[in-house]
Amino acid sequence: MVDMKDNVVIITGAAMGLGLATAKELAAKGASLVLVDYNEEALNAQVKSLKEQYPSIEILSIVADVSNEEAVKNYVNKTIDKFGKIDGFYNNAGIEGKQASITDYDLDVFKKVIDINLMGVYYGLRYVIPQMQKQNYGRIVNVASVGGIRGVLNQTPYVASKHAVAGMTKNAALEYGQYGILTNAIAPGAILTPMVAEAFKQVNPEDPAAAEKEYASNNPTRRLGQPEDVAKVVAFLISKDNGYVSGQVIAIDGGESNMY
Ligand code: NAD
Repeated sequence: MVDMKDNVVIITGAAMGLGLATAKELAAKGASLVLVDYNEEALNAQVKSLKEQYPSIEILSIVADVSNEEAVKNYVNKTIDKFGKIDGFYNNAGIEGKQASITDYDLDVFKKVIDINLMGVYYGLRYVIPQMQKQNYGRIVNVASVGGIRGVLNQTPYVASKHAVAGMTKNAALEYGQYGILTNAIAPGAILTPMVAEAFKQVNPEDPAAAEKEYASNNPTRRLGQPEDVAKVVAFLISKDNGYVSGQVIAIDGGESNMY
């Protein structure tokens, strides 16, 4: 097990799903955590339970909306004030939006998806990278999606935002590798989190379990992913053990993105 005791890692969207699973994985490895989410109630509940389970690790929790530039500046500054450094940044917060075809898509929802998934990730990079440059060290994991490497029916703003995350990841790797900063993106397939449970409800409001079963049957592994499947990959990419992987968009989808 990689020891991350001397690491400070910021996780956005930490109150549930993929962010929470990674928070647990890194807490078990001894990392100091900065947990950011806009759902204050869920964040407080998870921070309380993490502190009970891992009393020796330090946790700073910050309520912030990642689509608000000032709020992003603030979570970065608070992290530096408390810990003096940022070793890892899990740029994870995101939303799916509603499912509709391009011409029917609600414009306000479209803009909201772009604000959170694209601008939120960008603000994070903009304010975290200068600190990592000073340190000559950093590990960044942006969260794209299989929707960042191919199309997904009825999810145009999501797909557009996740392709943008993949693109920003490649550029960050090019521009900041010289400062010891390795930037990658993960591209999860369908991982069973609250977000995906909500998506199955949209696909089949009468019987979301049937939609889930059908989706799983099309995967080469015949199952959906679990948040822990993702957390273990992130834990490697965000640690010092990752010495030379950068600018990659790594699918975590049981191999499904190779099918057509
Ligand atoms: P989730 O909805 O289960 O959890 C997301 C968390 O992010 C929530 O705690 C939510 O409150 C928080 N959040 C959302 N918008 C925020 C904002 N503007 N500011 C601060 N916090 C915010 O979702 P998840 O499945 O864990 O997804 C996490 C990331 O993984 C997202 O970027 C999502 O697009 C991506 N992703 C998920 C899957 C999947 O199958 N679950 C697949 C591909 C990509």
